Amino acid sequence: MKYELAPLPYAHNALEPHIDEQTMQIHHGKHHQAYVNNLNAALEKHPEIDMPLEDMLSNLAGVPEDIRGAVRNNGGGHWNHSFFWDLMTPGGSSAPNGSLAEAITTTFGGLDALKEKINAAGVGRFGSGWAWLVSKGGKLEVVSTANQDTPLELGATAVLGVDVWEHAYYLKYQNLRPKYLEAWWHVVNWDKAQANYAK
Ligand code: MN
Repeated sequence: MKYELAPLPYAHNALEPHIDEQTMQIHHGKHHQAYVNNLNAALEKHPEIDMPLEDMLSNLAGVPEDIRGAVRNNGGGHWNHSFFWDLMTPGGSSAPNGSLAEAITTTFGGLDALKEKINAAGVGRFGSGWAWLVSKGGKLEVVSTANQDTPLELGATAVLGVDVWEHAYYLKYQNLRPKYLEAWWHVVNWDKAQANYAK
């Protein structure tokens, strides 16, 4: 199976001023494209594999050893970024809704507390990685993964996730990861987060 880079669901400049056009062009067109290309190159070595990407990432031990690292990094990169693009929308949608809003209040005390937790997880991630809101065993949790590791390998369902690799913010925010995280909340698509949660 050959993977393809899907077009962004909005224009490259649609998340301005929070996320700039050039960052989106390079992040999607170069970085994400490279993960897709490298994933395809790895899978070409094992044409017998006929498994959805999510299944491979949920059970990396079942992936042939010679391509396991490539699937973890590049398959993970493809999955994480596909998730991330869909989770953003121009202008955002202002607040969580439905069952997710209730669960956020019950678990964290409210949206501001959740934001603080995610921002802390993102800032606290040394080097490159992601901060996530996941649902695991029916409970919401904030976690962080290194590099392109996905919540799938934790046996968790991703509700919300933010890329804290420098390539996600360096052009506009330089070293100021907390500023990028603050701005990112303005473009979160809560309808999509609710749909992820309802899965
Ligand atoms: Mn990225």
